[in-house]
Amino acid sequence: MEKSLSERVAYLRGLAEGLGIGRESGEGRVLLEISDVLQDVALGISEMESRVIEHEERLDSIDEDLAAVEEDLYEDEFDCVDVECPHCKETVCLDAELLDDDLEMCCPNCGRAIFSTERDGEDAIEEGQGGAGGGRGGSPASS
Ligand SMILES: [Zn+2]
Repeated sequence: MEKSLSERVAYLRGLAEGLGIGRESGEGRVLLEISDVLQDVALGISEMESRVIEHEERLDSIDEDLAAVEEDLYEDEFDCVDVECPHCKETVCLDAELLDDDLEMCCPNCGRAIFSTERDGEDAIEEGQGGAGGGRGGSPASS
């Protein structure tokens, strides 16, 4: 296993001491000063490492929370029912619970009232024009 930075700095300082490098000589002073700086750097890095770990854990928990929120949102979408608006012929999404109550609702696209169930009475007459753009309904297609 690889030694940590602070362990290596500690080893370096022990080595300098063992070799009798003191602050008397110019080189000795420089070397000991360098090892002091290295020790500070090693301390700073290990502090940053623990902060990174802390942030990663926090990020993980935020990620989990977000996943739970997304799950709730998708669950809500299951209550959504596609209905074709009798006025603008747009397929719109309506709340299934409100549909069950047979309430009148407005089309989110054109703003006109939609009835909860498809009535096969009056609306069925308009059925033919629905498709491509409307306009000319003159030529009867032989089917
Ligand atoms: Zn509409």
